[in-house]
Amino acid sequence: MGAEPYYGPDFGLLRRQDPELAQVLLDELERVRGGIQLIASENFTSPAVLAALGSTLTNKYAEGYPGRRYYGGCEVVDRAERLAIERACRLFGAEHANVQPHSGASANLAAYAALLQPGDTMLAMALPHGGHLTHGSKVNFSGRWFDVVPYGVRRDSELIDYDEVRDLALRHQPKLIVCGATAYPRLIDFAAFRGIADDVGAWLLADVAHPIGLMAGGAIPSAVPYADVVTFTTHKALRGPRGGAILCTRELAARIDRAVFPFVQGGPLMHVVAAKAVAFGEAMRPEFAGYTRKVIANAQALAEALDAEGMRAVSGGTDTHLALIDLRGVGVPGVEAERRCAAAGITLNRNVIPYDPEPAAVTSGIRVGTPCVTTQGMGPEDLKELGSLVARAVRDPGGAEEVRARVTALLAIHQPYLSEF
Ligand SMILES: *Cc1c(COP(=O)(O)O)cnc(C)c1O
Repeated sequence: MGAEPYYGPDFGLLRRQDPELAQVLLDELERVRGGIQLIASENFTSPAVLAALGSTLTNKYAEGYPGRRYYGGCEVVDRAERLAIERACRLFGAEHANVQPHSGASANLAAYAALLQPGDTMLAMALPHGGHLTHGSKVNFSGRWFDVVPYGVRRDSELIDYDEVRDLALRHQPKLIVCGATAYPRLIDFAAFRGIADDVGAWLLADVAHPIGLMAGGAIPSAVPYADVVTFTTHKALRGPRGGAILCTRELAARIDRAVFPFVQGGPLMHVVAAKAVAFGEAMRPEFAGYTRKVIANAQALAEALDAEGMRAVSGGTDTHLALIDLRGVGVPGVEAERRCAAAGITLNRNVIPYDPEPAAVTSGIRVGTPCVTTQGMGPEDLKELGSLVARAVRDPGGAEEVRARVTALLAIHQPYLSEF
């Protein structure tokens, strides 16, 4: 536990050799340390993950899979990938893992390629209701290459309408049903989706890019026992390096592996694969289970505090690390709330809410998440205060400096990257 900030491997060397670029790294660290990060999809990796990311494994070409590479000299990096695969399978109780996808989007592209032909029909959550770009947006490959039927949430409960999902599945007979979202605060009933998929003979893909970390820590039920294929990112609540991964049944293992390489990607990023192994190892520790429970308790404290300020939590609250907040009660659009919070040292993003009357560039809502602040060591009491600070910043732009002073005081106690954690 030293007082020196952690700047990544050999930062001193980078500073001597390329001060201009080194300054970018320093400035970004100062930006992060100078404010509170409530972006639901971000987290702070451990120094051990950063060390693996900054390693010479970045140099190695390793097209193929451990023991079956198209390049010589892969016997050492093979060990890193085998470790990542074994740990992912053990951590999630999966039959097969592919740890090579460069991102969550590449993981989804590969999963679709393994299960569908262009023009096939799939069912996925509508973007304005919390679905992801890769779940059928017209500006994305998914919307261009597949016939995507969107489902959404009910207007009254703001929860996924499983009756609608079943009706749409029966009517459209999709080859694939995708569940999982990017802005849905509640638990998803994977057993219900499995039942619907079985009724129409569809594959079930769970894209759990957001909550996979909570599943790793056992804080929420896992999608793995229900889905044929599970795609996820390693950099969100899971707290690993930026990247993606796929879990699947033994039956689909060869199809998924061929879809990732050679269909979608070339050589894997072996330094990232090594860092994924480190992150999976960290997620197996008992402390990580405690972390994930605290992430949820913090998100609930934050959502309740905002609700008490007249900023309604969509669906009435959260079961996860994120909350979607309806700002219509305070009459400030999401885009303006995002700007006012930034001026007060709080980083969050505007987000459409279900049935939002405003376009995506404006929005009636914001999305907040607690993976970062929990990694920093904040607890429910801190999140309660943060809730009132966010409300104050949104309502009263003139008070930004006072809010920022409280933010600075909180950060003085809970600094990211000040010591090894
Ligand atoms: C974040 C996310 C992704 C994409 O991850 P990238 O690494 O940004 O490509 C895919 N699906 C869902 C549901 C996500 O939330």
